[in-house]
Amino acid sequence: MFRPAFRDQLPAATQSNTVSSVLATGLLRSYGDSCLNGPGGLIDMTGLDRLIAFDRTTGRLVVEAGISLSDILKIVVPHGWFLPTTPGTRFVSIGGAVANDVHGKNHHRAGSIGCSVRALGLVTAGERRTIGPDAEAALFAATIGGLGLTGIIEWVDLQLVPVPSSRLDVEIIPYGSLDEFWAIASESVVSHEHTVAWIDCMSGGAHTGRGAFTRANWATDGVYEAHSDASWKAVPVEFPSIALNRLTVSAFNEVYFRAHQLQRRRQLQHYATYFYPLDAVSSWNRLYGRRGMLQYQCVIPPGGDRGVIRSLLDRIAKSGQASFLAVLKTFGERTSPGLLSFPRPGSTLALDFPNRGVETLALMRTLDAIVAEAGGALYPAKDGRMPAPMFRQSFPRWREVAACKDPRVNSDFWRRVSLDD
Ligand SMILES: Cc1cc2nc3c(=O)[nH]c(=O)nc-3n(C[C@H](O)[C@H](O)[C@H](O)COP(=O)(O)OP(=O)(O)OC[C@H]3O[C@@H](n4cnc5c(N)ncnc54)[C@H](O)[C@@H]3O)c2cc1C
Repeated sequence: MFRPAFRDQLPAATQSNTVSSVLATGLLRSYGDSCLNGPGGLIDMTGLDRLIAFDRTTGRLVVEAGISLSDILKIVVPHGWFLPTTPGTRFVSIGGAVANDVHGKNHHRAGSIGCSVRALGLVTAGERRTIGPDAEAALFAATIGGLGLTGIIEWVDLQLVPVPSSRLDVEIIPYGSLDEFWAIASESVVSHEHTVAWIDCMSGGAHTGRGAFTRANWATDGVYEAHSDASWKAVPVEFPSIALNRLTVSAFNEVYFRAHQLQRRRQLQHYATYFYPLDAVSSWNRLYGRRGMLQYQCVIPPGGDRGVIRSLLDRIAKSGQASFLAVLKTFGERTSPGLLSFPRPGSTLALDFPNRGVETLALMRTLDAIVAEAGGALYPAKDGRMPAPMFRQSFPRWREVAACKDPRVNSDFWRRVSLDD
């Protein structure tokens, strides 16, 4: 692992003969093998975390690729600006966010982060280049969501969005069935900038997909307060794997669901509370014990999505393997410039499965078959096992990315799905 301190070290780092291939990494928050490079070397970008330029009038931000979204927010929020979109944790680097073309709760309005990237510095084939929608557009399209394969993103030029507050006006709406979810979702994408539902995936039958829908717009109080990392709670030890079983998870979901039912409400929430609930618990992954967990996130295209999401949830409920809560959200129409981008019109379901070995992998293969049949796709950032044919079918432009790949770069994910060794 090499951790550069200065950007001008990058061209030589990618050309080093001491390793067979290299891969840039950020904060390693991807769940699968897209940020691993077993036979080669890693370039840890977190030392390149400087602010290069910030125009407080226009919201144009230029930063080194290793800076975290958390540090960006601390700089820009006090001046009334916010990220155009954000994933469910602020502990990701901006380079990693671009390489996975991350999406947030406002996908139906803002699209994915690639829609707001004005330009990138890219070190590819030993050269430093500036690329953007109008400069080497094919390489830019291959780099947005390109899983780091086209080279090392050195810096990112991003358009921020103005916000009227650092808080959101959040409405939490408990609902009892998938039909109710679809009704609330279609009304909310018109009225609200941020939408998502937490669902209880232990419930089947008439209660399939029950949960709590949250929707939010920015408050208008003109108060700007960046988050602080001071109040973290930590999971002190790895839980025994037995702690997460069908009974404990069903009991948790019952309590959670009832709590939301009782507390149907509207409230002001700081952006850190609304966007990043898991960030309040450091090492939350220890809840899954030594065997860890696998995450599954799929998108199902419009048309068949309602029936397919129901089939997936019924299958998951019957298996009794799901974890506490799953997330269900509808994506909007705005397309990303990225060739390998995961977000696309339709509905996305994301959930964790405690790792029970073959039993969990067998369930995931069953889910894969349902997703593939529906013309859906799995999110590479959350994947460590999708079969190569499924990747190629659901990311049909993968060969265009392969054509732009830096020959010195490789990853475990890419070896697996492209069968490139
Ligand atoms: C709790 C949690 C919630 C999440 N919620 C969401 C969500 O709502 N939406 C969503 O889209 N994702 C979500 N994610 C996934 C996460 O946003 C992505 O995996 C993100 O890309 C991780 O960034 P990272 O800095 O950790 O990158 P890593 O995991 O270190 O790397 C990710 C990819 O980016 C590449 N990369 C990293 N830095 C560079 C660089 N400088 N140049 C070139 N390539 C680079 C790597 O090679 C790898 O392919 C979530 C993850 C967690 C843990």
